[in-house]
Amino acid sequence: MSRKKILILGGGFGGMHVLKELQKNLDTKNTSITIVSEKNYFLFTPMLPEVASGMLNPRDLTMPLREFCDNAKFFQADVFSIDLEQKLVTITRKFDGKNHALEYDYLVLAVGSINNFFGNKAIEENSFTIKTVEDAIELRNQILLMMEIGAQTGSVGLQKKFLTFTVVGAGFAGVEIIGEINHFVRKSVKQAYPTIIEKNINMILISSKNKILPELNQKLGESARTYLEKMGVRIITNVRAIDAGESHVELSDGEIIPCTTLIWTGGVTTSPMISALNCEHDKGGRVLVDKYLRLKGHPEVYALGDCAAALDVDTGKFYPPTAQHALRQSKIVMQNIKKALAGDENLNEFSYHSKGMMATIGNRAGVASLMGHSITGVLAWIIWRTYYLSHLPTFESKVKIGVGWAINLFFGTDLTQIGETKSKNLHEITFDDAPSLKDQLFTDL
Ligand SMILES: Cc1cc2nc3c(=O)[nH]c(=O)nc-3n(C[C@H](O)[C@H](O)[C@H](O)COP(=O)(O)OP(=O)(O)OC[C@H]3O[C@@H](n4cnc5c(N)ncnc54)[C@H](O)[C@@H]3O)c2cc1C
Repeated sequence: MSRKKILILGGGFGGMHVLKELQKNLDTKNTSITIVSEKNYFLFTPMLPEVASGMLNPRDLTMPLREFCDNAKFFQADVFSIDLEQKLVTITRKFDGKNHALEYDYLVLAVGSINNFFGNKAIEENSFTIKTVEDAIELRNQILLMMEIGAQTGSVGLQKKFLTFTVVGAGFAGVEIIGEINHFVRKSVKQAYPTIIEKNINMILISSKNKILPELNQKLGESARTYLEKMGVRIITNVRAIDAGESHVELSDGEIIPCTTLIWTGGVTTSPMISALNCEHDKGGRVLVDKYLRLKGHPEVYALGDCAAALDVDTGKFYPPTAQHALRQSKIVMQNIKKALAGDENLNEFSYHSKGMMATIGNRAGVASLMGHSITGVLAWIIWRTYYLSHLPTFESKVKIGVGWAINLFFGTDLTQIGETKSKNLHEITFDDAPSLKDQLFTDL
């Protein structure tokens, strides 16, 4: 009997956990498991904002996928296309750009999501994002560069522009990133940039809704808002960013914010490879799955995580795109593949109600909603850290991150700028904005 081929696409929360579960629970003599991912590592995204602020090192959050492949093959490649009829996946090899086809009996789609700029090219070209480890490194370098050049100008207007950081999107990622960089910039300026005037630092959070953190209850959203405002963040609600340049952001109410750093967390969508699949999709392009997490019309294809739309029958809405859900779904995918291999038609249904949601909002503060209780401040921050530390997939990463946090309790912020900054030449800054020759003498330095 030939071995059944299981092919997993994507090595993030969904794909990596399906891989682990299958290897643990399947008889690998009768099955062959292959995982394909564009990066050769798993990335623990919830701590990404802490890489942007230098609190954690990029390598602390990344774990090589090969470490998880006890009985599986790994290909680092881009998935180019999926042929559901012929059960073939075409991948593009990194070293020569040639395509290579992989057959499957069971396919697991776990390729996550991509940033959605809603077709706004100006915003796409002029913003930083926070989805990958490279994004976090670029953003950190940009923040450091803005502090360095801000410290060299005697012009108040120019210093303000360099030190204005605008985050668009007030969901988890947006709130966590503004909380993190607000603390990082203010602390670093006090620590090492005597020529930066504190009142020239502007941290702005833009929400298209009338609140922030809509995923949490009203009370917690309000308490996060009060805390961030107390820490110096200006929160603007009920507006959208509609245009941007190298040194400004324009809002839907007409306000133009002079700033050289725009961070976009305004939405996600699926990659063109997923939206082009010949199957049912939701409005955002995610593939529709049934209660067993199978693609409608293709019972041999499972989808989970951010690229899948699974209906929560209790709420009538799709489950939210979170790591928590991808993790829970991975168990069901494993159980159902195992049953299908054994010819058992009594598959398991996916149903999960999160026991809590939490977010960090800056300097040792957080908000959490746990089993119906609302928690704020340092306790929520400790719970956040403990929970996510325990969910890191390897012992080594737990130690590295635990040690990194401990070191940060005792030492100042690391201000080294290593690596590339997203190319941002700021050639739009006009002569009018430039300091006078006298200012350029840096008499105050
Ligand atoms: C900054 C940030 C903070 C977050 N914080 C939290 C949090 O606190 N709690 C929480 O629950 N969730 C959080 N999330 C959301 C969480 O990261 C996602 O919901 C989760 O990662 C989804 O898992 P996934 O497997 O669907 O996708 P991912 O984890 O994104 O994995 C997708 C994988 O597919 C690979 N891939 C994509 N396209 C291709 C291709 N064409 N070919 C080959 N490989 C491909 C990618 O490289 C990646 O390995 C956060 C996200 C971000 C960006």
